[in-house]
Amino acid sequence: MNQLTDQQMWDGEPTAAPVAINWHDAKPALTVDGIRQTYGRVTALDGVSFDLAAGEILALVGHSGSGKSTLLRVAAGLERPASGRVFLDGTEVCGPGRFVPPERRGVGLMFQDYALFPHMTVLQNIAFGLSRLSRAEADRIARATLDSVGLGACADDYPHALSGGEQQRVALARALAPGPNVLLMDEPFSNLDRRTRDIVRDETIAVLRRNRATAILVTHDPEEAMRLADRIVLLRSGRVVQTGTSEELYRRPASLFVARFFSEFDEVEGVVKNGAADSALGRFAANGFADGAKATICVRPNAIRVGKRGSGVDARIVSRRFLGETDLLHITVDGVPRSLHARVPAGAAIAGDDAIGIEIAPDDVMVFPESDARPRARG
Ligand code: ATP
Repeated sequence: MNQLTDQQMWDGEPTAAPVAINWHDAKPALTVDGIRQTYGRVTALDGVSFDLAAGEILALVGHSGSGKSTLLRVAAGLERPASGRVFLDGTEVCGPGRFVPPERRGVGLMFQDYALFPHMTVLQNIAFGLSRLSRAEADRIARATLDSVGLGACADDYPHALSGGEQQRVALARALAPGPNVLLMDEPFSNLDRRTRDIVRDETIAVLRRNRATAILVTHDPEEAMRLADRIVLLRSGRVVQTGTSEELYRRPASLFVARFFSEFDEVEGVVKNGAADSALGRFAANGFADGAKATICVRPNAIRVGKRGSGVDARIVSRRFLGETDLLHITVDGVPRSLHARVPAGAAIAGDDAIGIEIAPDDVMVFPESDARPRARG
């Protein structure tokens, strides 16, 4: 990423649209290769590898303890891994016999608590990382960066006088001002209330896009990752379980664990026969499964079509909730221990008519081997 100039100031409408780049062909700005990190008997990272293309925003997601922050610290050079390599712009900065310290990596860091210096003004906070420049040049860049996050009027304020969202933007400006090659952000929105978070998230992404920043965003929130990132890396117990766009992870999850992380659905048991899983809701394609294998059938709420009793599988509506454009129904089916959630067009299920028939749209159903069906767990 280039240093901010006056011309790059945030003077237009923000846009969060992803940059149209084929990430597979773009030159990696950051490569982590086989990173392993241990703390005593704990293995925090177990052979993590991925590339980050120049201009790409990548979300690193996973449950608490899955190794996200550890990976960020290793990439930044704040700690040395047990093994593996890190490359920045093709140059090895960490590997056997090689370790470039954080201040010489050209990497920007932004933490959850923002870590602003309370005794410095906003402008001084931003200029802090520009000490190699002349005072006038540092001041000019700090002001331009502050303008770029929409806070030019707050230059002489102290951090405590700002709201949480404004402090977040100052932290973003401070991380961007030195023009880092890669910006590493650890849960940068988690200290904000929900309403502020939505606004600040969109603004942050707009600033990153305008600066063509390359960034890793650590978050445990799948929605945040899907909303903000070009690509997502999902970690589980220190390993990468899947990498892809939000659509790939949502539509073609590699496992039940991935599916559960990115979407809501009901799970129904089935047994495979002749390439399909038989269940109380019908038969669903289970290609590649052995006959007799147990399967977990995942039914998204919009997969369920509601009709008259006699069509499809007999079912009963046990509750209705009005959600505006849609109704959320709780439905019971004989042979399915828990009630199912169905999201149907408002009014599709006529009040009072609780004995219904349902059909399941196969496109919104996923089938996984039962051996994959461990409970939602830490890491
Ligand atoms: P969270 O979302 O809760 O921040 P995370 O995905 O960022 O979690 P890490 O903080 O990277 O996970 O931790 C991964 C594992 O390594 C955890 O089991 C954690 O307890 C352990 N760990 C991390 N740092 C240290 C350390 N300095 N000393 C000992 N164990 C550590």
